[in-house]
Amino acid sequence: MPTCAICGIPTEHKCTNCNQTFYCGKVHQKQHWLTHKVDCRPFKVEHSDQLGRYLVATRSIKPFEIILKEAPLLCTPSQVTSPVCLGCLNGIEPSDYIDCENCGWPLCGIECKGKPEHEAECEFTVKRGSKVSVKEFTNPHPLYQCMGTVRCLLLAKKDPEKWKVFSELESLEKLRRGSMQWKADLESIGKFIPRFFKTTDFSEDLIMKTVGILQINGHEVPVTDPPHVAIFKNASFLEHSCHPNLAKSFTKDGHLILWAPKAIKRNTHLSICYSDAVWGTQERQQHLMHTKIFKCECERCLDVTEFGTNYDGFKCTTPDCIGVILPSSLKEWNSKWRCSTCGNHVDISFIKDILEKAGKDLNPMTRTADNCIKYIQNYQKWLTNRHFYICQAKIQLVQLIGTDPKELMTVPEDKLNLKLEYCKELLDLYEKLAPCEIRMLGTFCFELHSAIAEHTRRVALKTSLSPKNMLEESLLYVDKCINYLQHECDIFVEGHILKQAKINRDALRMVLVM
Ligand SMILES: [Zn+2]
Ligand SMILES: [Zn+2]
Ligand SMILES: [Zn+2]
Ligand SMILES: [Zn+2]
Ligand SMILES: [Zn+2]
Ligand SMILES: [Zn+2]
Repeated sequence: MPTCAICGIPTEHKCTNCNQTFYCGKVHQKQHWLTHKVDCRPFKVEHSDQLGRYLVATRSIKPFEIILKEAPLLCTPSQVTSPVCLGCLNGIEPSDYIDCENCGWPLCGIECKGKPEHEAECEFTVKRGSKVSVKEFTNPHPLYQCMGTVRCLLLAKKDPEKWKVFSELESLEKLRRGSMQWKADLESIGKFIPRFFKTTDFSEDLIMKTVGILQINGHEVPVTDPPHVAIFKNASFLEHSCHPNLAKSFTKDGHLILWAPKAIKRNTHLSICYSDAVWGTQERQQHLMHTKIFKCECERCLDVTEFGTNYDGFKCTTPDCIGVILPSSLKEWNSKWRCSTCGNHVDISFIKDILEKAGKDLNPMTRTADNCIKYIQNYQKWLTNRHFYICQAKIQLVQLIGTDPKELMTVPEDKLNLKLEYCKELLDLYEKLAPCEIRMLGTFCFELHSAIAEHTRRVALKTSLSPKNMLEESLLYVDKCINYLQHECDIFVEGHILKQAKINRDALRMVLVM
């Protein structure tokens, strides 16, 4: 039988937030709270040979609940980056910066002089005997490739406790060893650090393991420009899924917020998406293999229809057949594609040709609404209505039609209707396929809310109809938008949308009670 965390007597009562710590009664629970609140979370860390460490919900989790707020273990420049200030990790303005007077690394200004973040590597650089000289600021700079790794390695002396946590994270060194990326890293980091810093403090093996930990566990944090990389202890144990149950947001100072856009049942594994859930299956698979060295077999990848959306599907080429052409299974992605309705087989080279063309035509497409419409009309000959390339064009389109409220008022009727139709379609699709892409979903809700509001305005002008139900619909989506974007801070576009959404919501509520 479990025992009270304070007095040790057997008890059945437990903390209802985490379901993991037991108390004889309210008095001891209160007494323990200051100690307990640090670990009181609705999940626990489990271990299996196949997954390593992973997180499991210890109780049911409500929609929009925050699971974890976590400060980074450490922050580093990205491996590929133009020069950034080693004080604040923001980009260096070529016309306005200073060199660190001790080590020579450029800093954005005096406000970043002597910051504790830069201390260890400053000393480490001084020891090499001559200052660093960085004079080129526009392109990715080779010197910075090793700086993330250097920062991690120096933790061992600077903060042994953090180093212990860091060094126990997964490096996948055995799997990485020998790959193209590994060989490139060996030259630009593994052999480079001892030579450049004239040091024998770190063995090549230790350096390469550190590179691995940083690459496998690093999160891109967009609160600096350019984004930097951070390691978060608990978030490192999260499993990947292309259909995850947690969303990520960041505070202004780069802390991670993990929260649940939808309810999660007790004992469910918690997951985030390490790739981009808006991409098609093959892109996600290749990206995960390249960056995180594993073949994804999540429920979305294994279901070739991607929950019935046919997000990777082609229209059947048999006359009058309305079936969808897809691979028979994930394993056969590069061989057999066939129609599930009439059985028609299609050559893989046909699929690849069209995808290649569709990708090429989409990327440099001059971003106008009419070009998007043409693209959609053209590629819908082969691709399903919800194919990821068609959807990417639709995403661009809904944002190009009436980019601000004034412009929306002059948008022709047919384009406004298109915006309404596609916003609804995209929202419906991605809530199913990528429920954790909260910034995108929140933006769709906002676009939809404003399109409905504009439509309502036009109806009210033309007729004497009371548009109350339409205003209510507009309010519904602006409320949804606020739910999705509630944790976005105002250094992001989505944070500004959130602010505007709150203003619009209050205005709509006023109109509706009148
Ligand atoms: Zn007790
Ligand atoms: Zn608790
Ligand atoms: Zn700075
Ligand atoms: Zn320095
Ligand atoms: Zn997957
Ligand atoms: Zn068919």
